[in-house]
Amino acid sequence: MSTIGHLINGKVVTEGARKQAVYNPATGVPEKEVLLASRETVEDAIAAAEAAYPAWRNTPPMKRARIMFKYKELLEANADEICSLIGEEHGKISHDAMGELQRGIENVEYACGIPELLKGEHSRNAGPGIDSWSEFQPLGVVAGITPFNFPVMVPMWMFPMAIACGNPFILKPSERDPSSTLLIAQLLQEAGLPDGVLNVVNGDKEAVDTLLSDERIKAVSFVGSTPVAEYIYTTANANGKRCQALGGAKNHAIIMPDADLDNAVNQLVGAAFGSSGERCMALSVAVAVGDTTADALISKMKAAMASLKVGVHSESSNDFGPLITGAHRDKVVGFIDSAEADGAKIVVDGRNPEVPDYKNGFFVGGTLIDQVTPEMESYRQEIFGPVLQVIRVDTMEEAMKLINDHEYGNGTCIFTRDGEAARYFSDHVQVGMVGINVPLPVPVAYHSFGGWKRSLFGDLHAYGPDGVRFYTKRKTITKRWPSASVREGVSFSMPT
Ligand code: NAD
Repeated sequence: MSTIGHLINGKVVTEGARKQAVYNPATGVPEKEVLLASRETVEDAIAAAEAAYPAWRNTPPMKRARIMFKYKELLEANADEICSLIGEEHGKISHDAMGELQRGIENVEYACGIPELLKGEHSRNAGPGIDSWSEFQPLGVVAGITPFNFPVMVPMWMFPMAIACGNPFILKPSERDPSSTLLIAQLLQEAGLPDGVLNVVNGDKEAVDTLLSDERIKAVSFVGSTPVAEYIYTTANANGKRCQALGGAKNHAIIMPDADLDNAVNQLVGAAFGSSGERCMALSVAVAVGDTTADALISKMKAAMASLKVGVHSESSNDFGPLITGAHRDKVVGFIDSAEADGAKIVVDGRNPEVPDYKNGFFVGGTLIDQVTPEMESYRQEIFGPVLQVIRVDTMEEAMKLINDHEYGNGTCIFTRDGEAARYFSDHVQVGMVGINVPLPVPVAYHSFGGWKRSLFGDLHAYGPDGVRFYTKRKTITKRWPSASVREGVSFSMPT
């Protein structure tokens, strides 16, 4: 059985006492194992990063950008291998993994513009003979802790920009599917990154807590579930670190009576069931305005779902794959059971899908549930599975109140042909990322990604312009070269 190790100071480390099985979720078999870093191992990585910092900080941004350009080429050249590792351990279908990688590469492309992004602000003659400018300096060693559901894209929200800004980085990927993450880190090394600038420590809470408590770590980016995000944010803050912690979601789509329903159904099917619903931007609730809309939606969804194909990652005609673990599969099935017990109607039941040749895989088929109400546990919690719940309301205001009252505020979408309604919706809905006839409004790499309410703890969103701000601190310098011929006297007034 192969062992997935760490990347510390440019070398892969494969020795360690604690290990955990890594499953192939399509077969249900543990096929690899991953090292779980001890405190000492994480401290080795931090020491390597600290040692790399002075030289990396002073490397001209254009040279850092050239490494990112080379890195992009290597990611593209190794795309098949990266995506098959994602498939083997996460289970997502090859075309979906390619999409994930592409969205990750876009962050590298944005980081290639780092000389421009770090240019700062300059004011000539801020006072008589005085110039003033603001520049953006790196923070020092920074860390990222990432979830299982995007083992390549989410780490690439973080380390390319952090590193391009001049910071060494320690990445703690998900222990459930770590191989593709380790490979993309090794490719950055191959692109010419000096040893110690990017370190990967695999592990669990012990590794995370070491990163949170070590005073050499200046900032922490986190993406994962809300309870852990809140813990990371409060602990990092208590320890004096800058922190952005992105959490879970419950993303609603409003279906207005005037929507192009065929289009909405196509969009909903992809956004609810793609990647088995294991996306923080997955649409998991459809709020139908009016019973006529709801009845038509249910009937068209049923028809569209009849051809859904669930199966193994390597068969590209499959629509989505298994869930990440057996325990998570049981949790998702438990939510479907609880919705049924609470009186909702299971319209399409994915609890026992037929997946020939993969009988022990962690599969749940696409599931559609009607007559869901806001008090139900399955509505209040994030399910993170291929389950679309339908809530019926009478008005758009009622639909928006549901969304605004929910604890999460990551993404949302409205399907309508009415520009005025769409504008009102985007203006007033209490959610960070909004789609208008766009089901997964994941911002492009030159905007920033972040939810509201309990979907994000912290002030700055991930990647894009906020990423540059998160990984740098502003310094403002005010300069005068006094002329020998003009001497100013002492003044006790505030300079104006
Ligand atoms: P998770 O919270 O279980 O794990 C995320 C990371 O935290 C992993 O690296 C894990 O090792 C670590 N971790 C887990 N428990 C910990 C603990 N008690 N103490 C310290 N560290 C701990 O999340 P997951 O199951 O890997 O990912 C799915 C979740 O991530 C979903 O809730 C999803 O919505 C969310 N997510 C959010 C976004 C976003 O941008 N908002 C993006 C992707 C995923």
